[in-house]
Amino acid sequence: MTSNLIEIKRVTHAYKTPHGPLPVLENLDVTVPEGEFCAVVGPSGCGKSTLTRLVAGLMKPDKGEVWLHGELVKGPRKTVGMAFQNPVLLEWRTILQNVILPLEIVAPSMPKKDREARALELLALVGLSGFENKRPSELSGGMRQRASLCRAIVHKPDVLIMDEPFGALDAFTREDLWQTMHDLREKEPFTCVLITHDLRESVFLGDQVIVLSGRPATTQFILDVKYPGERVIDGLYTPECSDMLHTLREQIQIAQGRVPEAAE
Ligand code: ADP
Ligand code: MG
Repeated sequence: MTSNLIEIKRVTHAYKTPHGPLPVLENLDVTVPEGEFCAVVGPSGCGKSTLTRLVAGLMKPDKGEVWLHGELVKGPRKTVGMAFQNPVLLEWRTILQNVILPLEIVAPSMPKKDREARALELLALVGLSGFENKRPSELSGGMRQRASLCRAIVHKPDVLIMDEPFGALDAFTREDLWQTMHDLREKEPFTCVLITHDLRESVFLGDQVIVLSGRPATTQFILDVKYPGERVIDGLYTPECSDMLHTLREQIQIAQGRVPEAAE
């Protein structure tokens, strides 16, 4: 039996605004099998962040259902990890104490030394050994994002939801983090939903890339990523990746209501 970790079924949602309802999602269906990495791209303002809030149980859709691990999502869940563009680390805590935070909430009976061992193990995996006693402001933006990634998965959530987590980083730091993210999943598999506006990021990290239409968003196109060879950044420069990126770019242009240049 294949198990789908996330099932978004016919979800429709509109925000109430002073000018009347603003339809944001319409009959959206998304399925993410257990262990898969689902990247979501779409025009700005189409409803991507709304989608993450629905999966996290932070809001309920007007119509349709969100299922996680065979359970209907009715409210916030501890089994979801989240990471955002702004790492939101607590400045009065060290990096180690920040990473441990979810364990204090989810596993209060876990011995302190076990919590610390778990956090240190993850910090080592993302290359932050030796920085555990620093404060967030002593780290670079990329290092803070690595730490926030550790915090998001320290309690082994069923799913990690990331909303443009690498958007504020420079291009080289971003590529480093893609590789870290990939290597981390090899060692510690988890299901992931990543919202991004970077098509290369979606192809590098995604098992599938979902292109959402303009608002109200629905699924416009799904790309099954067949990454050539190992997932290393160099692979992005192969003809296979160029083709996938070209397809995605075309679909985004259609989603934005712009017609792509006529293909010969
Ligand atoms: P995206 O992440 O794709 O840029 P969002 O999901 O953040 O889009 O928002 C989709 C649309 O809904 C946008 O036009 C946004 O301004 C609007 N919106 C988002 N949150 C609210 C809210 N709480 N109330 C009213 N409108 C909202
Ligand atoms: Mg957004």
